[in-house]
Amino acid sequence: MFYESTRGGLKSILSAEAIKMGIAPDGGLFVPEKRVELTLEQIGELVGMNYQERAIAILKHFIDDYTDEEIAECVNSAYTSAKFGGSEIAPIYKLNDHLDILELWHGPTCAFKDMALQILPHLLVKAVKKTGETSEIVILVATSGDTGKAALEGFKDVSGTKIIVFYPNNGVSEVQKMQMITQEGKNVYSIAVEGNFDDAQSGVKVIFGDQEINASMEQSGFKFSSANSINWGRLVPQIVYYFSAYADIVKRGEINLGDKVNFVVPTGNFGNILAAYYAMEMGLPVNRLICASNDNNVLADFINTGTYDRNREFKKTISPSMDILISSNLERLLFEITGHNADLINEWMDKLKRDGAYTVDAETKKKISKVFWAGYTNEVETLKTVNCIYEEYKYVIDTHTAVGVDVYDKYVISTGDMTNTIVVSTASPFKFNESVVKAIFGEKVAEGKSEFELLEVLAKGCGLNIPEGLEGLDKKEVLHKTVCSKEEMKEEVKKILGIDN
Ligand SMILES: *Cc1c(COP(=O)(O)O)cnc(C)c1O
Repeated sequence: MFYESTRGGLKSILSAEAIKMGIAPDGGLFVPEKRVELTLEQIGELVGMNYQERAIAILKHFIDDYTDEEIAECVNSAYTSAKFGGSEIAPIYKLNDHLDILELWHGPTCAFKDMALQILPHLLVKAVKKTGETSEIVILVATSGDTGKAALEGFKDVSGTKIIVFYPNNGVSEVQKMQMITQEGKNVYSIAVEGNFDDAQSGVKVIFGDQEINASMEQSGFKFSSANSINWGRLVPQIVYYFSAYADIVKRGEINLGDKVNFVVPTGNFGNILAAYYAMEMGLPVNRLICASNDNNVLADFINTGTYDRNREFKKTISPSMDILISSNLERLLFEITGHNADLINEWMDKLKRDGAYTVDAETKKKISKVFWAGYTNEVETLKTVNCIYEEYKYVIDTHTAVGVDVYDKYVISTGDMTNTIVVSTASPFKFNESVVKAIFGEKVAEGKSEFELLEVLAKGCGLNIPEGLEGLDKKEVLHKTVCSKEEMKEEVKKILGIDN
């Protein structure tokens, strides 16, 4: 399989090269040049496999420049029972006869980012070897919370790599901050930036493009790469769990092989739901992909109107991992839907950069509407959904998942479609415990308590165990204390790498 850039500047790139580069030099994103197609028989074969075997069966079509043995090594190092709290890596919870929940948060950091960031380091290390790269890879990450910890955990002690995470000093939750500043490992660094997420992100972008630091890096045997969802190596492992979920409910007899299902995906950067689209294009029997937004409903508006318009107020919500106004991976969908028309993509992305908005043509809009349905959920509805699901099923969901469940309700009311549906659950309720406790037990119970005290409240109140990754987090030793300004980020990177002027 070869990869090409969505901006048309690059073709015939092997997957190892695409994964190592992260983003294409023309500013585009890498996508497969050809469609991978599986027969229903091949999908049926997944039913008898475990998660690791399913992952190998899917990945080998996309990264065929890796040997079967290399793929197996990556998969088996990433998806272990030790890291995912049991042999079921991505279990299905049956809520009722129409609705299943795909729990993607059993990994070490309690959010779905682990599904990709546990395997990406292994894919990247092999990519470095395969492409004859001799430099040590330095991963730079700017995070609003979940990606940073998942990337630190994934790259921890992976030889041939270093990882440096920048997070906004006052822009992450207590749990997220403690997760990052207590991170163990010989090659990991997390640094607080005085500013917001945009400051951290633009600071990282400046470093990526800085000629001087890149030259000294090369001299000292280092090379930068990226671990965010623009990297194909982060997207491709996410295709696997859509097949796995489907195979699981066939196995349980909830549907017959070949029956269609809907997937509902709580969406931010459009990475997760795009993986579902690739699965559907490969032949997974899907009726509709339902895109669920929070109050930052730029995507829901786009899918419903054909106009993408980021010129709106950025809202801080209780589903913060979906607080985003520029969904980078939408570019990949547009490229696929227009039959790989790089000219159109360049036109729309230029408009987005210049005016903050673009409108797709009627045919493209129609094609998108055929596959996707979109809606959004406000803050009050989110809390109410967490509460209702607990009252009705004694099942605890986090705020992001609640956005998915509520948008599903709106979908059913609007369409009357009773196709079997799977809601993708993206975080453990313990990770966003403050809102979850408020929703289930009322404001008063949460008042005056830290997020760490609330872990106990949630566990006791709902009869659940605190996930290993969050247990005792407040008592762990703080190992990373550096705080810097946006302007000092480059100096911090140089200090860590021992590069002098
Ligand atoms: C990152 C994240 C999302 C959004 O996923 P995208 O791939 O960016 O659409 C949703 N929920 C949680 C908990 C996340 O961490």
